[in-house]
Amino acid sequence: MKPEHVIAELERVGARRVLVQAPQGLRGTAIQLSEELSRRGFDVVISGGPCWGGCDLALNEAVEVSADAIVHLGHTEFVKQSSIPTIYLECRYDHDVDVEQLVEKSIHVLRPAKNIGLGMTLQWLNLLERVKKALEDHGFSVFYGQQENGRLYPSQVIGCDYTAVKSVESKVEKFLIVGSFFHGLGLSMMTDRCVVVADPETMRVEDMTQIAKRVLMQRYAQICAFRGSKRVGVILCTKPGQKREGLATTIVSMLRKAGKDAYLLVLNEVDERFLPDEVFDAYVNTACPRISIDDNAKFKRPILLPSELMVALNLISWEELVSSGEYFRWCVKNG
Ligand code: SF4
Repeated sequence: MKPEHVIAELERVGARRVLVQAPQGLRGTAIQLSEELSRRGFDVVISGGPCWGGCDLALNEAVEVSADAIVHLGHTEFVKQSSIPTIYLECRYDHDVDVEQLVEKSIHVLRPAKNIGLGMTLQWLNLLERVKKALEDHGFSVFYGQQENGRLYPSQVIGCDYTAVKSVESKVEKFLIVGSFFHGLGLSMMTDRCVVVADPETMRVEDMTQIAKRVLMQRYAQICAFRGSKRVGVILCTKPGQKREGLATTIVSMLRKAGKDAYLLVLNEVDERFLPDEVFDAYVNTACPRISIDDNAKFKRPILLPSELMVALNLISWEELVSSGEYFRWCVKNG
C-alpha cells in the first residue's frame, strides 16, 4: 500500500487524529509518512513503544491519545477486528539484491535435494518469482503454499506461522527461507526437513539443523526444570494479537489439578525485567511463542510454551511434540 492509499483510507474512515506505529527498523519511514500526513492536514501522533509484529497493535496508546485511526507499518494484517480503524502499511525492500548470487550460495547447502519448499518474509516477497526461477534454472523443483486461512501471502512466513510452507512439506526434501535467521529457526522447530536460510540483507546462507537441535535440547532442559516448580505464573499478554485469555485460564486450571500453585499473570510486555522471579518458580507463556524460544537465556526461571507444558505434565511425549509440527501452536489437550 502506498501513502496515497493510506490517505484515501484515512479519509474514508473520517480520521483526523492518527497514531503512526512502526517497528524499530522502520522508524525513519514512520517519520517520513508522519510528515506527509501532517502536510495533508492530519493530526499525527507517533507511537514510541516497542512494536514486535502485526499482533502488537498500539490500541491502548491510540485510546489514550484519542486517535481516530492507527497506521501500522511493516507487518501484514494480524488483528482482524480492531476497535479502532487500522491501516496496515506493508513495507518491502526495493533495493537491488543479487538474487542469482544468493541462490548460487544456497544451492551448495540445498543439494543433493531436488525438491525445495520456498518461504519468504514479507519484506522480501517481491523476490519470490526471481528466487523461484533462479532455483529452477539450477534444476530444482520449487514448491510453496498458502496459509490455511488466507491471512498471509503465498509462501509468506512470520515468526509464529509457517503453515504456508508447511503445506508443501510432503513434496520437498529441504526448505529454503529467504529472510532472517529468526524465521529459519522458527521453521526448523516445526519440521524434520532441513531448513536453509538465505538472508538477502547480509547475503549469508546457513543450514539451521544443528542450531535447531541445540535450541530443542535447551527447551527440553527447561521442561525438566519446570517439573520441580511449585508456584507458576501463567502469562496473559494484553497485546491485541497475543491475548489468549481462554487458553491462559485453562492452563491455570490444569496446573492446579496437577498440584501446582498457579496464578494468572497479566502483562503488556513479557520481559524478564518485569517478571516477579522471587514469587514464581516458573512460568507458562501464552503470548508470543518466540519470547520463550529466542529470549530463553534472559529468563532466570523456566518459561514454557503451552505445548511444552503438555510434555511437562506428561500429557504428550517430547518426541510427539517435536514430530508434531505444532511446536508454536496453541493447542492444549485437556487432561
Ligand atoms: S512471532 Fe510473535 S511478534 Fe511475531 S507475529 Fe507472531 S506473536 Fe507476533
